[in-house]
Amino acid sequence: MSQVQHYDVIIIGTGAGGGTLAYALASSGKRILMLERGDYVPREKDNWSPRAVNVEAKYNTKEVWRDNNGQPLRPHTNYYVGGNTKFYGAALFRLRKEDFGEIKHYGGVSPAWPITYQELEPYYTKAEQIYQVHGRRAEDPTEPYAGAPYPYPPVSHEPRIQHLSDDFARLGLRPFHTPLGVMLDETTRHHSRCIRCETCDGFPCLVYAKSDAQVCCVDPALQHQNVTLLTNAHVSRLETGSSGREVTAVHVERNGSQEVYSADIVVVSCGAINSAALLLRSANDKHPNGLANSSGVVGRHYMGHLNSVLMAISKCPNPTVFQKSLSINDFYFGSEDWEYPMGHISFVGKLDAETLKAGAPAIAPGFTLELMARHSLDFWLTSEDLPDPDNRVTLDREGNIVLSYKPNNEEGHKRLIEKLKRLMQQQTKCAVHGHECHVGLFARNLFVGQRIPLAGVAHQNGTIRFGIDPKTSALDANCKAHDVDNLYVVDASFFPSSGAVNPALTIMANALRVGDHLRERLS
Ligand SMILES: Cc1cc2nc3c(=O)[nH]c(=O)nc-3n(C[C@H](O)[C@H](O)[C@H](O)COP(=O)(O)OP(=O)(O)OC[C@H]3O[C@@H](n4cnc5c(N)ncnc54)[C@H](O)[C@@H]3O)c2cc1C
Ligand code: SF4
Repeated sequence: MSQVQHYDVIIIGTGAGGGTLAYALASSGKRILMLERGDYVPREKDNWSPRAVNVEAKYNTKEVWRDNNGQPLRPHTNYYVGGNTKFYGAALFRLRKEDFGEIKHYGGVSPAWPITYQELEPYYTKAEQIYQVHGRRAEDPTEPYAGAPYPYPPVSHEPRIQHLSDDFARLGLRPFHTPLGVMLDETTRHHSRCIRCETCDGFPCLVYAKSDAQVCCVDPALQHQNVTLLTNAHVSRLETGSSGREVTAVHVERNGSQEVYSADIVVVSCGAINSAALLLRSANDKHPNGLANSSGVVGRHYMGHLNSVLMAISKCPNPTVFQKSLSINDFYFGSEDWEYPMGHISFVGKLDAETLKAGAPAIAPGFTLELMARHSLDFWLTSEDLPDPDNRVTLDREGNIVLSYKPNNEEGHKRLIEKLKRLMQQQTKCAVHGHECHVGLFARNLFVGQRIPLAGVAHQNGTIRFGIDPKTSALDANCKAHDVDNLYVVDASFFPSSGAVNPALTIMANALRVGDHLRERLS
């Protein structure tokens, strides 16, 4: 075993939370060590291959988890520098102001956060700048106030999406440009880092034009001499001193050997499932139910959003290359005929035949998979699932991850799907097929083999919730463990509720907020 090396701060995990925190602390001059279990995503043609990415799952972890029936799960999650942001769709939303308060849903209550939107707002603005978000304010009817305009103009709609946006507007909705972290310069396309391609959502960006945590935060942080990154460094356990109030050793498996590091401050940011697993694995005499778990909430209240991918097939083709530019939030908090929240409508990247073969979409009558892929608009619908203590991460006897999840609050999501169905039936008639152009909506089954739903893990959050009361939360409002004085968590684990928009910008903004707190503490 090597000599223990001491740092000011150790950050475990380099995704949306950990990567952003490293960036926030880099210029402090403090000695910072990032420990990342993965390596850099190799830059190769396969980055943009639907077969490699979606069919062969080349970049997914090969780990096998289990569900609560003991059935194997092959999680769609990625262990690399930059974490899951290397693969994300870069839709960078703020939570709504109301999401920070208690909201009544048909299926129960979405609990309030211990901080307000006002407290996070300046960090949202900063995160949008760091992650180069492209968007336009005041289009989205539910958007909270912002301290600054988006730093870049919105990504334009291609003709089919513009047509759809016009149709939605004609029906009285307020469609808007999805805020996106892609480095697209549409005024000088020959200088644009982003080439506007069809392999963005779910794929790593071969030309480093996606605003991911590696490109925007980890690489810039490493320009500072005081920041070190160790890749292929899997943290297996955290050890506390005799008081149990301080993490004194971080145990790492790296390239086949065991190493130990220590720091004044230890920040866990392994993603909501792995962070909970790490704390549970770190149980000791002083923390018999898992580190920082006197409340018993560590691993519980797992959320991942209710998500559906729906293909709207039309007789006319959809030649769109980059289709994630449009969103609808008119039903986010409800509608005239339904007083409860329903959620958010947007798009996934354009589906292709190769990818469809990997799933099991319902086939539209008279269409092949190839034809379906060429004629579909591929919607992504997100609704909020509520924190249920029985939806949780536990460990089996060998210390492997067990994920138990039963969806809840589904009524609003079903109604959201119905809303979209009706909207699609009311599209303007096309010149060739008239009103018969729209064929119908078809679900893309997200259950591939024995996999858990793709999005179920993609939006993982809630397993180490923050709150005021140490009896019902594991972290305080600064994301410090109530039970341990030098332990913080900054990935999606801290969410007490998750709203119905994509989580990454909130994780990034919160990491910047915790960064300010840590700078003060360390000084
Ligand atoms: C295909 C896909 C599309 C998505 N699209 C969007 C989108 O458009 N918008 C959006 O907001 N969100 C999107 N998401 C979700 C978004 O990527 C996540 O919410 C975000 O990355 C979570 O950040 P995190 O810091 O919690 O964890 P991660 O980004 O997952 O980072 C965790 C890091 O910890 C490392 N790690 C784990 N365990 C250990 C350990 N024991 N030791 C050392 N390191 C460890 C991992 O390798 C990883 O690098 C998408 C996700 C996927 C998979
Ligand atoms: S659309 Fe732009 S950011 Fe996305 S993968 Fe293609 S080049 Fe990269």
